[in-house]
Amino acid sequence: MATDFPAFEKKAREILEGASGLNGIEDYRELLCGDCPFYHHGEEENEECGSFRLLKALLERGAFDLEGALRELGKGR
Ligand code: SF4
Repeated sequence: MATDFPAFEKKAREILEGASGLNGIEDYRELLCGDCPFYHHGEEENEECGSFRLLKALLERGAFDLEGALRELGKGR
């Protein structure tokens, strides 16, 4: 079964492997917006929905378990 969140999973793996980080807004966009149907790279880059803001805040506080999220998303595949 294909993943519903390919961009999230790709970026999360890169972060966990140390190949990428969460150093700026572009990294958060890649991780959190890449699978969003409303995201069009280069357009309305200043818009941040509530889900984006919430997840970004949790990531910044170290309260979002990327490894656990990948594990859960990978179940059943
Ligand atoms: S900020 Fe929210 S609505 Fe906008 S592209 Fe990202 S996830 Fe989608």
